[in-house]
Amino acid sequence: MAESVCIVAEYRDGAFRKVSYEIASEGRRIADTLGLKLYGIAIGSGVSDKVQELAKYGVEKVLVADDPAFEHYIAETYVPAVAEMLQQCDPAVVLLPASMNGKDLSARLAARLETGLAQDSTEISVEDGKIKAKRPLFGGKCLGWYEWADGALVMISCRPNVMSMLEPDESKQAEVVKVDVSVPEARSKVVSVDMDTSGKIELTEADIIVSGGRGMKGPENFAMLEELAGLLGAAVGASRAAVDAGWRPHSDQVGQTGKVVTPNLYIAVGISGAIQHLAGMGSSKYIVAVNKDPDAPIFSKADYGVVEDLFKFIPVFTEEVRRLKSSE
Ligand SMILES: Cc1cc2nc3c(=O)[nH]c(=O)nc-3n(C[C@H](O)[C@H](O)[C@H](O)COP(=O)(O)OP(=O)(O)OC[C@H]3O[C@@H](n4cnc5c(N)ncnc54)[C@H](O)[C@@H]3O)c2cc1C
Repeated sequence: MAESVCIVAEYRDGAFRKVSYEIASEGRRIADTLGLKLYGIAIGSGVSDKVQELAKYGVEKVLVADDPAFEHYIAETYVPAVAEMLQQCDPAVVLLPASMNGKDLSARLAARLETGLAQDSTEISVEDGKIKAKRPLFGGKCLGWYEWADGALVMISCRPNVMSMLEPDESKQAEVVKVDVSVPEARSKVVSVDMDTSGKIELTEADIIVSGGRGMKGPENFAMLEELAGLLGAAVGASRAAVDAGWRPHSDQVGQTGKVVTPNLYIAVGISGAIQHLAGMGSSKYIVAVNKDPDAPIFSKADYGVVEDLFKFIPVFTEEVRRLKSSE
């Protein structure tokens, strides 16, 4: 009989990513239902100082691998180390973030541990002691429920911004176990990637996203969206047309071949609403579309639609947001 539900937290740039707290909260709910312990795996360079953050969301014991070799996610170093730590947790269920790195790690771990993975899940239920995970299929056109054979290790990666977080309990402390994992030398040519992400809100974790499409007409006009996003505390996204034109980096792309996002508010500006774009943002809580074409497909998905030339509407809207913010 397995002893735990185990979460694999994601640590980057000196902090756990928010999705780590979401999976900890979900893990807590599952562990309580199944009568199991909740363990966490924390891996990274300098991660030791932050492990008690996980305790606030119900993690009882944290296994820590803190080594400069884990500064960046590299499959060759992370996969064997996390697999080794998972063995020590004796889990019935493993939850991971369905972030860019988390998806890569989950798939490789599932292969190594010879189990099935429900990737990018949006809901988990426990019925009669059996776990089921729901995930969107075919670009979000339908939803599938997955379950595991009796005795199989359940592995689920969870879409960021979907699982609700518990109220953090500052009084909680977790047992911390430092694990001496053997760090294999990475044979891949990429050993570290330096990106200037300072101050940039990660799209998959953003509460509000302002996205621009081909209707923006050129890269310089995204300054308008940056300004609006700055006032709203939002991240800036883009359609593939804007990315393919070289106006925005691929890391900003929302959609089937970009990122899947689930903000509370998604503002689509000059985006037609092609099915491949909707696959990436269709589960946003509220969608606002700004498009001069009243027949644009995005309006069939939008909660609020503005039929107007974006170059007239966005400056006026931005000024109104600024006025409201300054009177707060
Ligand atoms: C395999 C595959 C994968 C794909 N993956 C993705 C993906 O991940 N993400 C993605 O986005 N796309 C993806 N696409 C591309 C997708 O099919 C569309 O081509 C793309 O989303 C269109 O981008 P867009 O809406 O910005 O451009 P368009 O479809 O050209 O729409 C531009 C919109 O701007 C409006 N507009 C123009 N000027 C103004 C103005 N002044 N004011 C207001 N509105 C204005 C127009 O009315 C129009 O509706 C994929 C396609 C394929 C085949």
